[in-house]
Amino acid sequence: MVNFPPEFCPYCGTELDLVEAPTVYRCEPCEDWVFHNAVLGGGVVVVDDDKVLLVEDFRGAGTWKIPEGVPEIPESPREGVARELEEETTLGVDPTELVYLYDVGKWVGEDMFRMHVYYAIDRADTSGELEAGSDATDARFWTPAEFRESEHVLRDMPNPDETRSWDMGLDVLRDQATAALDRETTYADLFAPHLDD
Ligand SMILES: [Zn+2]
Repeated sequence: MVNFPPEFCPYCGTELDLVEAPTVYRCEPCEDWVFHNAVLGGGVVVVDDDKVLLVEDFRGAGTWKIPEGVPEIPESPREGVARELEEETTLGVDPTELVYLYDVGKWVGEDMFRMHVYYAIDRADTSGELEAGSDATDARFWTPAEFRESEHVLRDMPNPDETRSWDMGLDVLRDQATAALDRETTYADLFAPHLDD
């Protein structure tokens, strides 16, 4: 996955002029605009009573995150998230059962901006035994308090308010995911009858 500011026109190869940072570039020979857009990502908060599923990042021992990643063409965001969940935890889920939780735009590097869509699901609505998949070194459910008292740290915490502490974020995330699931309106509830027509 690449998402860096463009230097050259993808159509004719001419060096681009930056018109309005960080999004708008122009190619003079083509007399056309070139846009630098965000990459879409997403994740899923799997809740089991008072616990949240986290995976240990293969890039660093003791560093955990919620299962997340970048959808691949031609996946929808929720299909990409379901695949990432299976790759990282071996748990299966029907993408249409994922419940929308929230979305956020954030810089993940100096030149890279991501838009992430987060979903919630109850452990009871997933299938399979939990174990670390190919993209994680460990996977387990934690209560926010257990995690706070552990030696471990969270990375890339999906929190719209970046000034909150990570541990506070985990409490909020669990509670909001539970509330979203309690509303019990899934994508399948909303759209499946129409899509089947
Ligand atoms: Zn051009």
